[in-house]
Amino acid sequence: MKFLKKITLFWQIIIALAIGITVGIVFKQEYKLNEKKFIKIERLGVNKEVVKKLSPIKDSVFTSEKEFLKNVNKYIGDDITVKQRKKIVNISKIGVVKYISWMGVLFLRALTMIIIPLILTSIIPGVTNIGTGKNLGRLGLKTMVYYTLTSVFAIVTGLFFVNLIKPGKGANLELAEVEGLSAAKESFGDTLMNIIPTNIFESLTNGHMLSIIFFAILFGFFITKTHEKSRIFLTDFFNSSFDVMMRLTQFIIKFTPLGIMGIIAKTVAEQDNLAGIAGRLGVYMLVVIIALFFHAAITLPLSVRIIGKANPFKHLKSMRNALMTAFSTSSSGATLSLTMDCVKNKSGVSNKIAGFTLPLGATVNMDGTALYELVAAMFIAQAYGLDMTIGQQIIAVVTALLASIGAAGIPMAGLVMITIVLSAMGLPLEGVGLIFAVDRILDMFRTTVNVWSDSCAAVIIAKSEGEKLKV
Ligand code: ASP
Repeated sequence: MKFLKKITLFWQIIIALAIGITVGIVFKQEYKLNEKKFIKIERLGVNKEVVKKLSPIKDSVFTSEKEFLKNVNKYIGDDITVKQRKKIVNISKIGVVKYISWMGVLFLRALTMIIIPLILTSIIPGVTNIGTGKNLGRLGLKTMVYYTLTSVFAIVTGLFFVNLIKPGKGANLELAEVEGLSAAKESFGDTLMNIIPTNIFESLTNGHMLSIIFFAILFGFFITKTHEKSRIFLTDFFNSSFDVMMRLTQFIIKFTPLGIMGIIAKTVAEQDNLAGIAGRLGVYMLVVIIALFFHAAITLPLSVRIIGKANPFKHLKSMRNALMTAFSTSSSGATLSLTMDCVKNKSGVSNKIAGFTLPLGATVNMDGTALYELVAAMFIAQAYGLDMTIGQQIIAVVTALLASIGAAGIPMAGLVMITIVLSAMGLPLEGVGLIFAVDRILDMFRTTVNVWSDSCAAVIIAKSEGEKLKV
């Protein structure tokens, strides 16, 4: 244990990643149904007669989820619900990976547990500390303008690379079936309307981040308007609550290596036929990754250097634990607590700025997702052999921006939002089936860029407010 304490968290995470990847490669995820599992399926509410129809595949081992599902569908596809089918897949999993993947599940649960309390306890005192309405308006506007600008930069970078390399030209691709993906659930107009909740408790229960942020900003603002006794009491209360949340965060962060090991082992083990996929979709993946890399390694550091007059390398070093967590969890929401910890404690941004910009950024500022939306949509257009006019490309840029703002900070949210871009461009929604296979992998990269961009914004805004930072 003493020995472990000497290794910094960064190296613990690197070692965990290596172990996770190795376990995932060596022990592939397999699927098998036996008598015991048949009983478990019955417990899901599936009729005994229906379960019996699965007998032909009893005790057969499948090495990919796709193959397994194909068989389940063949025998009982029409007799079960989508939810039951998902549960059957989980029940059927066998193999070593599940002995470590539970650590990932627990870690993710813990991170998710603290998202909403963290947002509330950071935004409310964040806004209260900003003080007057004028200050709040100025800071809010500055943050939103900056977020929009970097996302547009990211999209244009994607547009440049996808037009340069044309990964979809002549691609000979097959469509995969994507479950439950008809069109994005709500239009952008609805998203805007829903920012004002009708029931804040419903928003809290269902995790509607934009409504929660909206309410928290209002609440924080009106604390500054109330009489002195209440103001001092509430300000102290929320500042203290935030302090408690940050300590809780730091406790959970200690388990990051174990969590990451579990998540990565499972993710790697579940990628069936990686080599085959890479062959077909390799160039597309490469374009996304190159463009993301360009944005993260050139555009954002330059803006930290030039606009923020801060040192991007030092800031990168501060952020590394959060970035690796973003990469492993594919969720900016789940990473928020670590992002805050790094930005505040390592880069030296104040509570006031970090508490305001980061929760907002985790929800609306997604440069990586914006870039990905555009490249994916253009790739689909190219694969269908359609030439996009400049007008259509402009529509793609705008909708990619809106889609990234509307996407939630959870895994694979970007894939759902692509339907918005596709329909705006007049492309068939089934096109999503082309890129489905590699979405989870690209999600890791784009989420890392999302979090990196949020953190750079916090540094730049803090500097512009005259703060002295450690970077
Ligand atoms: N997973 C991304 C995030 O949490 C969103 C996306 O799917 O693009 O930032």
